Amino acid sequence: MAGKKRDLRRLVRGLRFRLTAVYSLFFALLLIAVAGYFRARLSTTLSDGVKDGLNDEWAAVKGGFLRIWVDPIKGTYADWYYDKDDPDETTVVLDIKKIYLIADQYGHVIPDIMAQGPSVSTGYQDIGIDKPAEIHERMERMLEFARAHPNAPITPSWDVRRNSDGKPFLIRAAMVWDQQHKEPFYVALGDSFQESDRTLRETTWRLAAAIPVAIILGSLLGWVMAGRALSPVHDVARAAQRISSSNLSLRIPSRNSGDELDYLILTFNRMIERLEASFRQMKQFSTDVSHELRTPITAIRGQIEVALFTAKTTDQYREAMFNAMQDIDRLSQIVRALLLLSQAESGQLALQRAPLDLSGVVEEVTEQFQIPAEAAGIALTAELAERCTLEGDRVQIERMITNLLSNAIKFTPAGGRVRVAVQPVEGAVELIVEDTGRGIAPEFLPHIFDRFYRVPGTGTAPAPEQGLGLGLSFVAWIAKAHHGVVNVDSAPGKGTRFRIRFPDGGATAHPPDQTPARAVS
Ligand code: ADP
Repeated sequence: MAGKKRDLRRLVRGLRFRLTAVYSLFFALLLIAVAGYFRARLSTTLSDGVKDGLNDEWAAVKGGFLRIWVDPIKGTYADWYYDKDDPDETTVVLDIKKIYLIADQYGHVIPDIMAQGPSVSTGYQDIGIDKPAEIHERMERMLEFARAHPNAPITPSWDVRRNSDGKPFLIRAAMVWDQQHKEPFYVALGDSFQESDRTLRETTWRLAAAIPVAIILGSLLGWVMAGRALSPVHDVARAAQRISSSNLSLRIPSRNSGDELDYLILTFNRMIERLEASFRQMKQFSTDVSHELRTPITAIRGQIEVALFTAKTTDQYREAMFNAMQDIDRLSQIVRALLLLSQAESGQLALQRAPLDLSGVVEEVTEQFQIPAEAAGIALTAELAERCTLEGDRVQIERMITNLLSNAIKFTPAGGRVRVAVQPVEGAVELIVEDTGRGIAPEFLPHIFDRFYRVPGTGTAPAPEQGLGLGLSFVAWIAKAHHGVVNVDSAPGKGTRFRIRFPDGGATAHPPDQTPARAVS
């Protein structure tokens, strides 16, 4: 029951339902408006038809069918002149005489000589004979008009009146003169609206019956069309549901229609691509970390085993403990570096930016390396241009220079040279660390900034003096955080040169993103 209710709610909230509802409402309103307009037009046309019929009848009356005589002996009377053997004429006159009234200018009905009675039909009596005063007033008005405009036709008066059954009639009344043009007379002709009313009523009923059917059919069509238009959305949703962390390589197939949905699919696929890349990175990272941590842990365990089971003398015992401690140091070094790197790359490490004299910082760090360089038999020189400043974090910049210099010294044999330089280049500041060391083969170059990457041949089981493979990851991140671009040139056996260019005197306050800035040549 609750499930059904939920299904219904989902259906009502669904785009398909809402689209259909809006479309159906619009369609229904349009239909009703069109039908209303059509009905109004029909009503006008029908009443115009009745009006035209009465005008025709009037023309026939004036044309000679009706003659009014004012005779001193016989009195005033109306007479109808037509060929009684002609069925057309007979029909016309009988039609006219269905609803008619002829009165003198004072409103008194005059006699019909042919019918031997008053000139008023029973139909007209049923509608209600006009009051004499009313007729008189109208006649006065028409006479006045006729006197003022002798040649102008007299405008008839139009009236809608109902009979005892409530049926409507149109009455046309105007003035005619008797045959000798002595006196004016009032002639009213009427016609029933009954026919036109019935047509109008029937049409209204038909429309009222057809509109709901049309709305239902239209809504069904709308439902089907909306379903068709939205079916790709369901396909996309189904495809998206199949994508999980274990099969991030799945993509939603494009429909190649170039519509909004294709754009959505493209955007979605790009998002999945980025997710897949960061998932891959995370996986790689945890594999690397567990591998890196396993080596010192195994070593520590070995040392403790020695201490527990093999060491006999105090010296042997102390040596095992000393080795274990060295491995613990390496372990905590890795953990510290990793923590720092992950904080840095996830944007948690806030940079303390301040205007920085790069040459000054490089000079200080280089001085610290003079003694180890000398010890390794390496000539360490610095060429520092003045006024090379950048907006940066001193600690991180120092870390970057330290990492680059320690690598240069570490991978340069005795007798070699290491040169550090800071120079302005095209409005930017460039830091160079180059050595005459063993260099890096081109196939390894693209990987040197990866975490835990060490060029093979430098020892697979790292000794404490060998690096963690994290130094250049830091360099890449720090450069990126300061909007710098790293370039590496290296020739095996000849040396390596790192160039880091900080644009326009340094970094602005943008947070670093995840991709390290580097170029390898
Ligand atoms: P490590 O801590 O091992 O030095 P890095 O990330 O700093 O790790 O460097 C990655 C690898 O790149 C090093 O193991 C080394 O093989 C190579 N490398 C870095 N700098 C130099 C250099 N100046 N000369 C030759 N090889 C280098």
